[in-house]
Amino acid sequence: MSLRDQLKQDQKEMGRGSDFFKFAEGDNRIRVMAMPKVVASHFLGGKGVTCYGMTKGCPHDHDKIDTKWLTWVLHEGTLKLARLPWTVVDYLANLEANPEYSFTEYPMPYDIIVTAKGAGTMDVEYTPIAARQNTPVDEVYLNDLRSKKTPEEIVDEMKRKQAAADGNGAKLAPDAEANPGDIPF
Ligand SMILES: [Zn+2]
Repeated sequence: MSLRDQLKQDQKEMGRGSDFFKFAEGDNRIRVMAMPKVVASHFLGGKGVTCYGMTKGCPHDHDKIDTKWLTWVLHEGTLKLARLPWTVVDYLANLEANPEYSFTEYPMPYDIIVTAKGAGTMDVEYTPIAARQNTPVDEVYLNDLRSKKTPEEIVDEMKRKQAAADGNGAKLAPDAEANPGDIPF
């Protein structure tokens, strides 16, 4: 397989390209479809490089790290892979614990609307709020979701690929338990 074909396949698998959700300025209405999984990145030359943990040999500066939570979202009728910021996942955790909004599984039973101010800039601010109504997710999207890898599987794969690229593949065996201390916040 050529590198181009491999990259195309990678993009498809990771949900990159058109399937990657980006916050637009103003209101973004999304349904969180899967349990978000933390992923940390280093930005090197304008490109994000997945961090697989200092203790596993990731060679980059761990004082400079960007932490997001990867998940599938339904946005404008399309299932997209999203990187949610702390503000949003923190809000989801609050909803989960609130008797008025509590939910026990994914997809969540209602949408959330995230207002982005300064989208696409370093100073972007996100204000999330839950929709008041529960609405079912169409079976079409549930089927689509079942055909995808889980956020956890995708993040594991991203870490393994980066570790292999750095020659640290052996330190990140597929069944190795992630050490919570590996990911700085
Ligand atoms: Zn790292």
